[in-house]
Amino acid sequence: MEGLKDEEKDVLEYIQRFAKEEVKPLSREIDLKEEVPQKLIDRMKELGLFASYIPKEYGGYGMSFSFLVRAIEIISKACPSTALVLDGALTLFGEPVLMFGSEDLKKKYLKRITEGEIGGLALTEPGAGSDAAAIKTTAVKQGDSYIINGTKIFISNGRIANFFVVDVVTDQAKGHKGITTFVVDAETPGFKISRDIHKMGIRGSSTVELLFDNVRVPETNMVGKLNEGFRVVMETLDAGRIGIAAQALGIAEASFEEAVIYAQQRKQFGQSISNMEGIQFMISDMATEIEASRLLTYNAAEKWDRHEPCIKESSMAKLFASDVANRVATESLQLFGGYGYTVDLDAERHMRDAKITQIYEGTNQIQRVIIAREVLKELSP
Ligand SMILES: Cc1cc2nc3c(=O)[nH]c(=O)nc-3n(C[C@H](O)[C@H](O)[C@H](O)COP(=O)(O)OP(=O)(O)OC[C@H]3O[C@@H](n4cnc5c(N)ncnc54)[C@H](O)[C@@H]3O)c2cc1C
Repeated sequence: MEGLKDEEKDVLEYIQRFAKEEVKPLSREIDLKEEVPQKLIDRMKELGLFASYIPKEYGGYGMSFSFLVRAIEIISKACPSTALVLDGALTLFGEPVLMFGSEDLKKKYLKRITEGEIGGLALTEPGAGSDAAAIKTTAVKQGDSYIINGTKIFISNGRIANFFVVDVVTDQAKGHKGITTFVVDAETPGFKISRDIHKMGIRGSSTVELLFDNVRVPETNMVGKLNEGFRVVMETLDAGRIGIAAQALGIAEASFEEAVIYAQQRKQFGQSISNMEGIQFMISDMATEIEASRLLTYNAAEKWDRHEPCIKESSMAKLFASDVANRVATESLQLFGGYGYTVDLDAERHMRDAKITQIYEGTNQIQRVIIAREVLKELSP
């Protein structure tokens, strides 16, 4: 475990135990009931997971991003919906506040995260997904406040988050240079959940549509500067994509390990199917791809920890790890034969859970756009 302090390695061991003994046994129920039980969120709070990545000066444990990424991987291996509660709170909400928030915002909101309150990011709108600069939600200045109006869609942690980082238009004439980021408390009058969105995978994660109906936020809740919110969100997603790569890695590991164990138990033609070369080649390819995902993901996280530019590495990790998670989940299900296709086993859930990792925090087409842009910049003649 390169890049981790001894203390972080010790904590990861008990996170392993927590994931295996407390999260995994509930993973099917979480999928069926479309909800992560509060007792698991409380346990993550008790274990200090929400405080882990928050710096000590704001009441956290000051652990590294590399640590957080491994924690997300481990919990995703047991249940990616549960991991997303933590990932959303720390990478999507905590990170932008940490990077761009005023001292007062950090003291207020990061402290609340260490106490187990949950955050989210509200960027996407019905008319603005991949083209994030096309958002239409507005914030108009009124005295020392801004009044927000608009709709956000597909917002993770929607029902459980206490506050969100929200991207809004503050100068319509300026395109992406007219976007500003604010922290909005979920209790603010006019902030409404207009509907729950039911999904094929990560069903335990709450995904909602949000309506902002004259929501008043104090100017002091601005994250970064006026009209510089696009940079805030882009840098947030650089970190966020590493979190999604870790989630994908965890899903791939779970699918793979379950399938490899089964392949050694299942007998056909008088022998374990794992003795067959056709099966062994599948196992080898999957093992290699998972290892490559792991290295790309950990490398991007270490770069983030060293504050080195890592736009390309973060996108590569997310692109590769999510494609691998989908291939591995599909091939692992194949190893279970007909049994894999039933809801009696977890293989079908892994396949459903894996799909989202190719879509959110920038689809894999968008990751390719980003990677190409970075490579062309590096190698410009
Ligand atoms: C379960 C879930 C949770 C989510 N959580 C959040 C959240 O917490 N906060 C938040 O703000 N958003 C969230 N999202 C939104 C998510 O990030 C967007 O769905 C995603 O960025 C894609 O946007 P879109 O759905 O509008 O698709 P579109 O942008 O309409 O894309 C449609 C298709 O066109 C392709 N495409 C678009 N542009 C290009 C291009 N330039 N080149 C090639 N292909 C292109 C896309 O890859 C895709 O295949 C979530 C989504 C889901 C499903």
